[in-house]
Parts: sequence; structure tokens; C-alpha cells
Amino acid sequence: MSDANNLMKTVEKQSAHVFAMIEPMEHEQVMFFNDKETGLKGIIAVHNTVLGPSLGGCRIWNYDNESDALWDVLRLSRGMTFKSSISGINLGGGKAVIIGNPKVKRDEAFWRRFGKFVDSLNGKYITAEDVGTSTEVMSIVMQETKHVTGKPISAGGTGDPSPSTAYGVFLGLKASVKEAFGTDSLEGKKVAVQGVGHVGHDLVGHLTKAGAKVFITDINKVNLEATAKEFNATVVGPHEIYDLDVDVYAPCALGATVNSDTISTLRCAVIAGAANNQLADENLHGQMLLDKGILFAPDFLINAGGVINCYREVHNLNEAETKQHIENIYTRTLDIFKKSKTEKIPTQEAAIKMAVERIEKAKANK
Ligand code: NAD
Repeated sequence: MSDANNLMKTVEKQSAHVFAMIEPMEHEQVMFFNDKETGLKGIIAVHNTVLGPSLGGCRIWNYDNESDALWDVLRLSRGMTFKSSISGINLGGGKAVIIGNPKVKRDEAFWRRFGKFVDSLNGKYITAEDVGTSTEVMSIVMQETKHVTGKPISAGGTGDPSPSTAYGVFLGLKASVKEAFGTDSLEGKKVAVQGVGHVGHDLVGHLTKAGAKVFITDINKVNLEATAKEFNATVVGPHEIYDLDVDVYAPCALGATVNSDTISTLRCAVIAGAANNQLADENLHGQMLLDKGILFAPDFLINAGGVINCYREVHNLNEAETKQHIENIYTRTLDIFKKSKTEKIPTQEAAIKMAVERIEKAKANK
């Protein structure tokens, strides 16, 4: 058999695998891109555009293999559909991943080529910054496409979305405290924040201002020490964070930190943080938390401040309109808790149901 035939056979196998992954998650479109000259290689996934154009950040990551990259972009774009839907904004879910080392600095040609690929989708996908990209990168991408958000303020964008994300997380956390304790006052409440990077740092600021006693951990010493000093927060070790006798655990570093191991040690009444995909297994761990009486604030609901910021750029919203969208996170979080109680389902499931209901309704009205 010739090389070409061998290659064809591999491609056939892989494409069957691709559809096996896409179909259950119901993606509308997946685009693979490859540019030999710049070494750019990646995937854009458009999950759902019923409510509006799909929007989601562009992540650059050293994936172990291509299946991991595909899985990541499919999972993240689906999450964006739910995030925008539940936030009441008119955007669909999309995401881009670029395969490569995020620490390597790429040149202008690389990012312009990415911009061209985004542009080729004619607005069906709008990009933004994510892990390994930045507002500066977006200012290069925008030279090739208008379908870009998270641009620097100097380029007419809204800049770093983290302060908006932190504010939304703070409001979602407050609503969760209200549900668990009957009042949303944070005076004297003990909160454990895991990860004090962009979002975690600002969240600690909101929490201490509201009178909470904050415990922090981070594997980055610079971030840890700076935040501890600025807000007089108590530093704990990376594993100790799960064992603390606190009211709230706020994951602001990584996904999947709420799992069978940590649920057995966590002593908090509430989990509310910024990290995406906090539940290692959406169904299993959502139910475990419900059984254990720990109230979980769905991450894609309370960390939507960043995408709301991007929405501002797409629809030219003013500051007050944007703030209102972010502040709606408080009541929507309470609505989710109500739905969870009424339907006797985990909060994550209730949030997904509410997001899907809005999309189905919009589809029926089209
Ligand atoms: P960041 O990279 O600025 O901060 C993350 C921090 O977590 C870093 O300081 C890092 O050292 C720390 N960290 C990593 N692993 C850790 C560990 N095992 N234990 C303790 N600390 C650890 O990221 P960010 O922008 O602040 O985002 C935080 C989380 O929120 C991420 O999961 C991100 O996907 C999510 N999120 C961010 C935004 C946003 O607007 N930035 C929006 C939505 C969701």
C-alpha cells in the first residue's frame, strides 16, 4: 500500500473519531487550521449560535496530543454556550485552541495568521484572550479581523476582563452566603481562596473590604506574598486549603479541584469561585455536594463577568449597562438555588437546564 493510501486510512480513522466526539455535544462547526509558514496549528469550535455569534477566548497550550486539544476546545466552547445563555446575553458559545508552548513568544505574523482564520468564519466566531494570550495579542489579531474582543483600552477595547470577573464572582459568592446563612453579610465570614492571580487577587480585595477573614494559597510565591501583604490575608499551604474550617471555599486557580477526594475533606458550607469546570465530574460531584449539604455556585454562572465585558465590545454597551449585566449574577444565582431545591437536582444541573431552556425558547421563536 502506498504512503498516500496509508495516510488516507489514518485520516479516515481520525475523522470518524472527530464526529464521535462532536455529535454528542451537538457542535455546529469545528474548524482545524494549519499554517506551515508561521507554525500556527489549532482548532476553532463553534458550539451553538442560536442566541448570537459564538464567542470565547483563544487558548494556547502544550497539549499532549491532538485528541486532548480537540476535547478541550469542544468542552470549553460548550461551556461558553451555557455561560452566555444563563447570563442573559445574546451570544453563542465558541472557543479556539492553538497547539503549542504558551511560554514561547510568537511574532506578529503568527497572530495575524490566526486573525485571518478567525475572519474566514465571517463573524460566526468572535475571539478573545484566554490562557497564553493577552490584550496585546488581540491588538495584533484585530489587524486581520473585526471579530475580536478583549482588546486593549488604547485600541478601543475594554482591556483585562479579570476585574469584571472578580466582581461577578464576589456577587455570586454573596448570593450563595445568603442562601446558606440567611444573610449575605460577609462580616466575619471565613473564606479560603485558592489562587490569587488576576481574578483571585481582586476577589480577595472585595472580600476583605466586606469584612471577611480571608485565607489564601498559591503556588506562585510572588502573587501569594503580594496579595497577603496588600489585604492582610492569612497564607496557607496548597493542600491545607481543602482542610480549613471555613464558611466558603473559592477555587480561583484550576478546574476539577472539587472531586471525590476533596469533597470528603472540605468543611465549608459554600463553594463559590472563578475557576472554570470546578467539578471533576459534573454529575457525580454535583450530586455528592448536594448529599453532603455543601452549596455549589455553578462556576459558569458566577464567573461570567469576563464574557459580559466582551459582550460590551460587541454591542457597544455603556458602563452602566455592563455593570447591570454583571450585577444580575446575584439574583440569577439565587434563582438557580431555588430551581435546584424545587426540582431536587444539583445546582450545576439546574444551571445547565436554565441555560438550555433559554436557547430552546429562542429556537422555537425563530
Ligand atoms: P491567573 O493565571 O492570573 O491566576 C491563577 C493563579 O492560580 C496563579 O497565581 C497560579 O499560580 C495559581 N495556581 C495555579 N495552580 C495552583 C495550585 N495548584 N494551587 C494554588 N494556586 C495555583 O488566572 P486568572 O485569570 O486569575 O483566572 C483564574 C481562574 O478563573 C482560571 O481557572 C480561569 O480559567 C478562570 N476564569 C478567569 C476569567 C478571567 O477573566 N480572567 C474569567 C472566567 C474564568
